Formats: sequence, C-alpha cells, structure tokens
Amino acid sequence: MVPTTPPPTLHVASGDLRAQEVDVLVAPAFKGEIEGPGTGAVLGALGLDGFPVSHAFRGDVGQTLRLAAPDLPARSVLLVGLGRMVDADAAALRDAAATAVRAVPDATSLATTLAQIHPTAASVHAVAEGLLLGAHADQRWRTQGDERAPALTRATVLVPSSRSAGAREALARAAITAGATRTARELVTTPPADKTPAALAATLGELCADLDVEVWGPDELAASGCHATLAVGGGSEHGPRLLRLRYAPRGSTGRVALVGKGVTFDSGGLSLKDRTGMQAMKSDMAGAATVAAACAALGELGVRVTVDAWLPLVENLPGARSYRPGDVVSHPDGTTTEVVDTDAEGRLILADALALAAATEPDAIVDVATLTGSAAHAVGAYAGALLCDDEGLLGALREAGRDSGERLWPLPLWPELDRFLRSDVADHRQVGDSPAGDPGSDAILAGLYLRRFVGEVPWLHCDLPAAWLGSGMGWGHLPEGATGFGVRTLLSWLGPDR
Ligand code: MN
Ligand code: MN
Repeated sequence: MVPTTPPPTLHVASGDLRAQEVDVLVAPAFKGEIEGPGTGAVLGALGLDGFPVSHAFRGDVGQTLRLAAPDLPARSVLLVGLGRMVDADAAALRDAAATAVRAVPDATSLATTLAQIHPTAASVHAVAEGLLLGAHADQRWRTQGDERAPALTRATVLVPSSRSAGAREALARAAITAGATRTARELVTTPPADKTPAALAATLGELCADLDVEVWGPDELAASGCHATLAVGGGSEHGPRLLRLRYAPRGSTGRVALVGKGVTFDSGGLSLKDRTGMQAMKSDMAGAATVAAACAALGELGVRVTVDAWLPLVENLPGARSYRPGDVVSHPDGTTTEVVDTDAEGRLILADALALAAATEPDAIVDVATLTGSAAHAVGAYAGALLCDDEGLLGALREAGRDSGERLWPLPLWPELDRFLRSDVADHRQVGDSPAGDPGSDAILAGLYLRRFVGEVPWLHCDLPAAWLGSGMGWGHLPEGATGFGVRTLLSWLGPDR
C-alpha cells in the first residue's frame, strides 16, 4: 500500500523570490493586470514584459499558469490567480496556496510570496494551512501512487525580515490546525468496514490518548438511558458505542461540551436509501471525526477551556433487529420520540448525546453533524449551516468561521414549525413533515427537534454539507471527497485567546 504522504516541512525566509533554489516559484497575480509581490521581478527575469503573459490567464480565482524558468535557479514559475485585489483576504490566500500546490503535483519544493500581500501572522497562517491542506493525499488503499498526488516535501514562505518571528509562530500553529484537519479527512476516507462503531471508538481513543477517554458499550448506553442510540444501532452486527473525551487544562477558564454525529455507515436502515444516496455514506461520521480530531489538538494549541466531547457511534443497517417506523424510543432526559423514518437516525443519536451533555450544565454545547440534505439545499455544498438562538454563541462561531476560511451561514429556528414535531403517541415526532413539503424546512425542523434536548444551555448546531464534496467539486483548500471541514473553526473558537 502507498502510505499517506507526510506533510511537507514549512520554513519562513526573507529575500528575493528570484533567488530561491526550489522546483517552483509561486507568485500571485490579481485580476485587472495587477502583479502581486515578487511577480514582476520574476517575470522580468524570464524576459517577459509583465503580467498578463497569456490571454487565457487573467488572475481569476482558481486560475494558474506555469512557466519554464531556464534563467533562474528554480525550474519553473507558477502564477496563481487571486481575483480582485480588494477580495484577497486571508481566506483567499489559503485557497490560492492549496490551488498552487495541486497545480504542480510533480514539484518537491516551492517558495512563495503569497503571504507578502498582507504580511500579517494571519496571512502566514492561512498560506501555511493552504500549503499543508493542498499537499494532502490519502493513498492508504492504493497499491500504486496516484500521479495527481502532490510530491511536495518542502515549502518556503517568504516574509519581510521584520515579520519572521511572528511568521514562525504562525507556521507552528498551522502545522497543528492543518494536521488536525488532515486527521479528520483520513478518518472520513476510511472504508466503513474498517471503522465499525467499536473500531472507530478504539481509533479515536488512541488519537486522543492524552485526554481522559471512556468508551461506553450497549450496557452503559442502556444504563444511561440512550435507548434511541441503541435502537438506531440495533440493525447492525456491530453494536453502538458512545465515546467520551475530556480535556481539562489546569486553571481552566470555562467548560464547553462538543457533540459529534458518528454514523459509521448510513444505509438508511429499513427506510433504505437508493444506490446513489448511499455512495458517500461512510462520511456520515464526519461530525464525530471533526470533534475528535479537534480534541486531539487542544493540548498542543494551549487551549484553556475544559472540553467534554460526547460522540455516539452507530452503524445504521437494515436487519432482523432493526428499529422500525412506528417504534417509540426514549432518551436520557426521559422523553420519548416516535420514529417516522429510520433514515433520520442522526437526530435520534444526537438527542441522546445532547441530553447527556446538557445534564452536566456546561457553558455551551456545540454539535456538528452531517445531518440533513436540506442544509445543502439551503446553503450549498461549500458551507456549514448554523442553527442557534443564542446571539453570543452564534456570533462567536461565525467569527471563528471567518478566521478559518470555512463558510458558515445561519438558518432560522422559526417557532411556527415546531408544531410539526408533535406526535400522536410520544413526546416528540422525529421528522416533521410540514404540509408545505418544502425541502428547506427539514434542516430547520431537525434543529428545532435537537433544541428540545438542551434545556437552558446555550447551544449551536452545525450541519455539515461541506464535510464531503463529490467528484470534481474540489475547490481551494477543500479537496473532493473528505474535506475535514469544521475542525479549524472549532479550534479557532476554542483557541487559547478565548
Ligand atoms: Mn440517514
Ligand atoms: Mn445520517
């Protein structure tokens, strides 16, 4: 098997881009024939008058142009487009760095002036994350290397010499945050047969070996009242687990709870999905992967709040002991839910975990989950949808999303819809089929359903359409397949400055 390529080593340096002895010099260009830092000098050394050197390459976002560099120590130059200069924020730099790495898969080394556009620590951090995320290629199930996998082993981020100390710190932080993102991707990419609930609990426990780790089996789940989780996991030979992680730094400044949906494979259960609906369903544990990968990085980042994670892990399969539409299941808070659709399993296991988390009265609860197709209808494939009625918490997560370059957008929790969660037989109805039948409502109804289990604790739910991108959908720092979306937002939110 081909191992996952280790992340390239990153360095900070000052000096002339033209003098760098690397395979590729990555130079930025803006739309409107505006050269970025170092670009004019490099083009001059190639005997070119300046940008644009080709009518096809106009500096649009996502565009690249590679030029041979016979008269420079470097073998070639890659121009990378940033779009309009006014839009070139840290998020654009991160995406451009990742795009550049993937555009030159044969290059083993590069140097770039991308971080000189705004020479701040945030820029260096973003460029470094882009390089590390763009270079990631998971080849664990290949016997022959993929020619599209970047060969990059070394990258130099050029900064003004006065900025180098802050830049080195930013590189170190990027190695942690991008590393955690890569970990989440690899967990999601792992085939479902290799990450059954017990196996995934063991893997995540090892990943978080520096934290307090507990794995609950069916007995502990029953004893704590997680009967919805037991019902959802009942159809599989591989029974459910609940993974508890606790990070408790000395002198803790607060306590938050994280909840992550861990459906290791979602066939839909008896409400079986069709062939195409099932294809990416190994990614239905992305919420749990996101939370665990973030938790594993808390110590290294010096996070000062206590973090409790509750990760329900189940496989949703049809079987002789599957739960059924019409069943009534109960939760740790004693309330009951009428099952309507066994393919809406995520909200049931989250309800159990949220009730457990809320009973510990943390300062806030954030749950992350690949929960509804409806969220993608509402915010599109490249984003996360936030449902939250606490302005402070919502604002904090949106700010963290801007910092990480992960697009997050709020959806409303309209109270008018709550009545569709009334059941004729139980306390809650799992799915609220509103008479309008509008596809956008399910994400909201799922949020309204989850809110019933958090009591008075400030709570935010993040639905994750961007956790998995289909073939050809890769863009910027998000590759096709598993993206690790959400990890860096959580780390930014929990970061040492909090
Ligand atoms: Mn489902
Ligand atoms: Mn699901």
